[in-house]
Amino acid sequence: MNKERRAGVGPIFFLIVILLLIALWIGTMDFRSYSFTRGDLETAVEKGEIESVIIEQTKESDGGKIQVVTTTGATRTLNVTDVKAMESYLRANGLDPVVGEVPQDNWFLTYMLPPLIILCICAFFFVMFMNAQSEAAGGSKMMNFGKSRARMAKDTKTTLKDVAGLKEEKDDLEEIIKFLKDPTAFTKVGARIPKGVLLEGPPGTGKTLLAKAIAGEAGVPFYSISGSDFVEMFVGVGASRVRDLFEEAKASKPCIVFIDEIDAVARRRGTGMGGGHDEREQTLNQLLVEMDGFGENSGIIVLAATNRVDILDPAILRPGRFDRKIMVGRPDVGGREEILNVHAKNKPLGDDVDLKKIAQTTAGFTGADLENLLNEAAILAAKEDRAFIKDEDITKAFLKVGIGTEKKSKIVSDKEKKITAYHESGHAILFHVLPDMDPVYTISIIPTGVSAAGYTMPLPEKDDMFHTKGQMKQHIMVSLGGRIAEELIFDDITTGASSDIQKATRVAREMVTRYGMSNLGVINYDSDGDEVFIGRDLAQTRPYSERIAGEIDMEVKSIIDECYAKAKEIITEHMDILHASSELLLEKERVTREEFEALFENRGKKDDIIVESI
Ligand code: ADP
Ligand code: ZN
Repeated sequence: MNKERRAGVGPIFFLIVILLLIALWIGTMDFRSYSFTRGDLETAVEKGEIESVIIEQTKESDGGKIQVVTTTGATRTLNVTDVKAMESYLRANGLDPVVGEVPQDNWFLTYMLPPLIILCICAFFFVMFMNAQSEAAGGSKMMNFGKSRARMAKDTKTTLKDVAGLKEEKDDLEEIIKFLKDPTAFTKVGARIPKGVLLEGPPGTGKTLLAKAIAGEAGVPFYSISGSDFVEMFVGVGASRVRDLFEEAKASKPCIVFIDEIDAVARRRGTGMGGGHDEREQTLNQLLVEMDGFGENSGIIVLAATNRVDILDPAILRPGRFDRKIMVGRPDVGGREEILNVHAKNKPLGDDVDLKKIAQTTAGFTGADLENLLNEAAILAAKEDRAFIKDEDITKAFLKVGIGTEKKSKIVSDKEKKITAYHESGHAILFHVLPDMDPVYTISIIPTGVSAAGYTMPLPEKDDMFHTKGQMKQHIMVSLGGRIAEELIFDDITTGASSDIQKATRVAREMVTRYGMSNLGVINYDSDGDEVFIGRDLAQTRPYSERIAGEIDMEVKSIIDECYAKAKEIITEHMDILHASSELLLEKERVTREEFEALFENRGKKDDIIVESI
């Protein structure tokens, strides 16, 4: 916001400075001496406007010049052919000219210097202003502010080997590498390759690295620009930069265009505030035009990174634009160990350093955090003139990096981890056992930010609509599964289930008040956003009596209680799986669908008896 405003105020400030200087210049004009004609002199003399006169005779001639100072203080000079005649004319008119030397009228000083000074000052301000502008945009050259400042790296040496972990993400991008290497192989069979891929994940998880590695692996040019580069500019420059960027890209395809922080430009339109918002819209529109403009399989792949998919303009996710999303999450233990190995390659480690152990104690760290950790340790070693890193350096570095990291993600204690593992396993078992729920895709206890301790995710892009009473009840049961597992295993329960409870309550309440799925009959008791009740007494906030309100609460409670009991029964039946899954989670932090389902296969057939009773 601040930066956007600065770009708007800059030119105005600049203009004011110029106007002020011009005004000053005009103000000084009257004090400079300039020539008089004979007629001017005579008029001034007649009007009595002359204050004083100096007469100077040029050597060995009759001629010379005079300088008069008028009553207003202005100085005027006049060349004369006959000094004597002039002197007597002036005396005749009651003036008393001084004979002497007329001060040198330096033409340069008088006429050229003031404008020159003003010009210099203007130029100085202009350069200052432009530098501030281009610096803000990250560039160094003064005059090319309309040009795209995409940084191009022709032969990036980064390859997939430099990207540790992220196995699934790499697999997902494999076809793009193949395509860039040989586009015709794809066009021949009529395969359509996505134009745009959105990499979504927290900062420092390796999105840029991944994009670079794809370019490096395919051996194509890599253009990168950051969304925030577009924001602080003159109006219209963002759009022209996008145009230039794609022009360059088209000239050297196949290639990769990488837009970091795309949320800075591609924020939902019409929600911006202040002056920067039109500029952003223009930039976004230009980006969409460009992406629509180049045909399918044209050889340009646009990769974009963001950690805020939720605020993106939906237009950008439409087919033919960024229609492929890849989640780049925080690494699990195995991933962290791999990343540590990559970054420890050129750092000699002492015998006491155990990267596996470091990986285990850094849950929630991103690749960038880990790199930073090793780097800090190396600095500590260098400070002591040691040529290798000791475990002690890493412990010290951990304190330093960990404090910074703690603000972004939460460093979790073993106890918290264990509770989370059981909580998520509780959800997962119900997802798996209940017939209408989607299979579990990933279970994770990697801290995902400041709030969530872990997550259990069904297949992505799941539609959140439930149609039957049975489905809704199952949904409630899944939501309660986390709390139930905590209750069964630990004596205590935690606050971690509050959003689960909220979700379960919401669904149960809707069953009663909106869908007529309870003993209260097929009646809508839900007034929110429902026009049916408009026109009723406004003082009455609920369209039903106190008695019904009490009954609704009773019904909601009975649905929840029933679901709770059934869910608890299922989890108790699967106590062995609950333990096995939690142990697996504690070991790996992230468990895939296959790994989770294998637990059931090892145990024998899935228990169908309970499922039927739901
Ligand atoms: P993002 O673009 O997601 O914010 P970057 O790709 O810029 O993150 O990552 C920053 C740095 O962190 C990288 O330059 C690299 O050193 C390190 N890093 C992050 N993820 C990985 C990874 N998976 N493997 C190796 N290094 C990584
Ligand atoms: Zn939960």
